[in-house]
Order: sequence, then structure tokens, then C-alpha cells
Amino acid sequence: MSVRLGKIMGIPIRIHYTLWFVFILIAWSLASGYMPTQYPGLGVVTYWAIGIVSAIILFASVLIHELSHSYIAKKNGLPIGRITLFFFGGVSEMTEEPQDPGLEVRMAAAGPLMSFLIAGVLGALWYLGSLLKAPVAVTATLGYGGLINAILGVFNLLPAFPLDGGRVFRGSVWKRSKNLISATRIATRVSEGISLLMMFGGFVAIIIGDFVSGIWIIFLGWFIRSGAETSLQQTLVGEALAGVTVGDIMTRDVLTVPANITVDQLISEYFLVHHHGAYPVVEGREVLGIVTMQCVRSVPKERRTSTTVKDSIAACERAVIVKPSASALDAMHTMARQNVERLLVFDGPQMLGIVTRGDLMRTIRTRQELGA
Ligand SMILES: [Zn+2]
Repeated sequence: MSVRLGKIMGIPIRIHYTLWFVFILIAWSLASGYMPTQYPGLGVVTYWAIGIVSAIILFASVLIHELSHSYIAKKNGLPIGRITLFFFGGVSEMTEEPQDPGLEVRMAAAGPLMSFLIAGVLGALWYLGSLLKAPVAVTATLGYGGLINAILGVFNLLPAFPLDGGRVFRGSVWKRSKNLISATRIATRVSEGISLLMMFGGFVAIIIGDFVSGIWIIFLGWFIRSGAETSLQQTLVGEALAGVTVGDIMTRDVLTVPANITVDQLISEYFLVHHHGAYPVVEGREVLGIVTMQCVRSVPKERRTSTTVKDSIAACERAVIVKPSASALDAMHTMARQNVERLLVFDGPQMLGIVTRGDLMRTIRTRQELGA
């Protein structure tokens, strides 16, 4: 879904595939619509050059905005998994939520402040360029860069999740009430109100004839609505798993499979007898990987008596290891990041147990239902 661009401040930067499409769309709309209207009389090639450079400036600005959040997070010891640039913005994947409201406010505010700072710098360059009679192509690009950063700053300050303004708002309520859950619920309700207003406004715009703006406003409203819901769920999950360690919920006495048996034996002696969805494959004391039902299915029937489990596990799930003292929430993030369904629990060289996504989901459900 996304390609890796590189690393900045130790954080992997990725580009979501939708961004290429958006990049072309923005360059095209600038080159064929906005720029010829604002600055008539230039050549087609010049308009396209302005459009492409402006689109690059826009994405660089979004990236710097995201990095400013990450900078404050890292400085305060919060790890950032990675930054993915997509559609009309970026997403920093925090592996942990901030533990105090003051930090959340500072971290969220850093992004819009950075956008305003870039807007100021580009605006000043634009002004200088106009004074010095720089080529129109240069001032047009600078002017657009300044404007789009100002818009980015203002839009992100809307007090709605998942925008920065929503986090600033939640942090402020949280600081006063000292209760993260109730603060999140209030912020979610405000976000939903804003998103409904936006969607309503979008319909009105369509009815009075501005179809394109209407669709955009409805889309942004929908984006805010789903983002708010996700944030609320994340907070509730974080709260349900608070204080739970991997050791508390893991399954002990893991049944392992020797690497040298055939796939046929694996099916008849393990999958059909015991009711687990996957087994760690061991050779001596070493865990080679995890054999799952899906990867057994990928071995053709006629080859199952001749293929050993060891030969077939190359395409199976990797064995990802976790300590029993790790928090259950960390385990959940690790599974998402490594794209695996289960983690092996090791204390030193000894395998103590296994923890699956299903175990985590059950724990969350049970604790939420019991209000524990
Ligand atoms: Zn931001």
C-alpha cells in the first residue's frame, strides 16, 4: 500500500499509493486552472513547471508538519513507529499515546505552528520576490506555497479529531477533568457535531450549484467522523488493556511441531487432532517460524506427503518474539507493525507461551464488559 522513502530522525517515512494520484491531480489543477487564472500570459510548460514544483512544496510542507509532531514526541520519549504521507496529509503512527495532557497539547500544536512558520517564511520570500521583480513563475510558486501552508495550519486547528485542533481540545479538557476517557468522549462528540455540520454544508453547496466544493466538504466531514470514531476506540482499547502484561494473557504449554515431519503428518497429527490455528516449528532448540493453516493450504495436495514442514514454512508467518513483561498494548502494536497474528513469549532462551490477536480481543471485550 505504501513505498518507503527513507528515514528522518530515525523515523521511516512512507508514501501511500494514493499520493501519486493526488500529486498528479494537484499539479494538473494548478497548471491548467489556478495558475493561468491568477497569472495569465505564461506558457504551458511554465504552468506545468509551477504546478509540479508547487505540488512538491505542498508535500514537503506536510512532511515537515508531521516531523514537527514527531520531534516533540521523540524529545519527550514517545516512540513514533513511522510517518505515512497519504491523500491530503500525513499520519504519524504513535506507538503510545501521550501520558499527560500538557504533552498532548504541545505535541498537537507543534504541527499547525510549523505550518504557520513555513507560511510566514514563504510569504516573506514571495514579498521580497515581488519587490525585486523576480520572474512571475517564482513568485507564483512562493505565493501558492505560503497560502497552502496557511490553509493547512488553519484547517488542522479545527477542534475535531483526528485533526491537531481536536487533540489540543482533548488535551485541554483532559487537563481540567483529569479523566482521559471522558475528555475523549467529549472531544469525539464535538468532532461528530463538526463533521455533521460540514456534511450538511456540503449538501447545501451542491444544492446551490457548487458541486465540486460540496463533494470536498462532505468528504472532509466524513474523514473527520471516521477519524473521531477511531480515536475513541483507540483510547478505549488503551484503557481496557492498561496494566495488562503479555504474561497475564498468554497461553502456556505451547504445542510445537518438529521441522522434519511431512505436511501430511502435520495435518493428521496436529491440525486434525488439536484445535490450534498455528504451531511454532522447532528444530533442536531453535524456532524456525510458525506454521499456519493458510500456509498448509498453499502446499498442493499431491506434494504433502513429500514436503517437510521445514520446506513449507518459508512462506509462513515469521516467529516474532515478545517478553512476558511487555504490556499487552505493546504486543498489539507489534502484531500490527510486523503484520503477524501471534507472538511467541520468550524469557531468555525459554519459550513460555504464545499470545494471539484473538487473545487480545477477548481480553479487551471481557474487561470492557466487566468494567474492569
Ligand atoms: Zn498535524
